[in-house]
Amino acid sequence: MALIVQKYGGTSVGAIERIRNVAERVAKFKMLGHQVVVVLSAMSGETNRLIALAKEIDKDPDPRELDVLVSTGEQVTIALLAMALKDLGLKARSYTGWQIPIRTDSAFNKARIEDIDDRALRADLDSGQVVVVAGFQGVDSGNNITTLGRGGSDTTAVALAAALRADECQIYTDVDGVYTTDPRIVPEARKLDVITFEEMLELASLGSKVLQIRSVEFAGKYKVKLRVLSSFTDEGEGTLITFEEDSMEQPIISGIAYNRDEAKCTILGVPDRPGVAANILGPIADADIEVDMIVQNVGANNTTDFTFTVHRNDLKKALDVLDVVKDSIGAREVMGDDKIAKVSIVGVGMRTHAGVASKMFHALAAENINLRMISTSEIKISVVVEDKYMELAVRALHQAFELDRIPALDA
Ligand code: ASP
Ligand code: MG
Repeated sequence: MALIVQKYGGTSVGAIERIRNVAERVAKFKMLGHQVVVVLSAMSGETNRLIALAKEIDKDPDPRELDVLVSTGEQVTIALLAMALKDLGLKARSYTGWQIPIRTDSAFNKARIEDIDDRALRADLDSGQVVVVAGFQGVDSGNNITTLGRGGSDTTAVALAAALRADECQIYTDVDGVYTTDPRIVPEARKLDVITFEEMLELASLGSKVLQIRSVEFAGKYKVKLRVLSSFTDEGEGTLITFEEDSMEQPIISGIAYNRDEAKCTILGVPDRPGVAANILGPIADADIEVDMIVQNVGANNTTDFTFTVHRNDLKKALDVLDVVKDSIGAREVMGDDKIAKVSIVGVGMRTHAGVASKMFHALAAENINLRMISTSEIKISVVVEDKYMELAVRALHQAFELDRIPALDA
């Protein structure tokens, strides 16, 4: 007998008939003798609908009230699933975040879980109940309802799995696992049987939206065995997210991620003297703008050109800041470009293999793709390319690293 936490995303509970399917899947696990905790998202589209309603009243809705509003989506699905489970003859009980309670800090709209009281849940499980928990929500020390940020149900599931020391946390979604890259761009993309936490974290932070990043961090920290599976098929084992030392399959590159969320800021003709990087990035940080990649080039006449990327939504704000900075440090010109994309290859095998970067750059050069920026970490190499070449770059890299083939085991 195992204790399993199962999380179902919005598309898996998007209609009554799908909720019935979830109930049947849960019933199957119960029949096998397992204890099951189910965490649900709101019906697909519901959270967006609620946010849009709020914005009809106020473009910048009050954060506390927004959480009261958006947390209702999950209250609907947990009740319906509990009913569907009872309809199948199972014992089931639903819980909202505050009923458990799942304690969080008070950062409305992006709260962090601090503590979970698992007593009620354990008692229910021991008496044969299926416990159905609303994802994405909690309660702060002032008894205010909080939510965990978009996609937060994944984190609820992992946190519950950690608190209950579950044997496995299964994330059911509309894809059957984690792929080498987006199959919409590369039809030959292959489902991975296993991937390490570190790789998953990089892929998630680079824009593969299978799991909320925070849930992966959480699972890594608390050693929760995490598996991504499809709720639309009974086949396959999904993708297991595991620790590097436990993983047998260790290809050099596991996946390719991309995103179009960034924009590039350049400040030209910066006097080349100590402190200018701080002079530029200090005001950017003060304006609450996050910087991702940074490149500095030596230019002519003792000047440098300084380039960095920010989230696309922050581009205008960043350029406004730079206009002021430009005059104060005596730089020549400020430029912005939001027609860029970032493409990254990720793999723990990079640590022990040379020549990965040059292979990447060759593959892109062969397609005549110009690299605007490059950055590397231990298990990732990212390049910035012109937006319109993004898909071509992803395809070229997928082929160059033969990601469509099952890798030979690394001896
Ligand atoms: N319903 C929330 C959202 O759409 C939380 C979740 O689905 O994980 O972001
Ligand atoms: Mg999700």
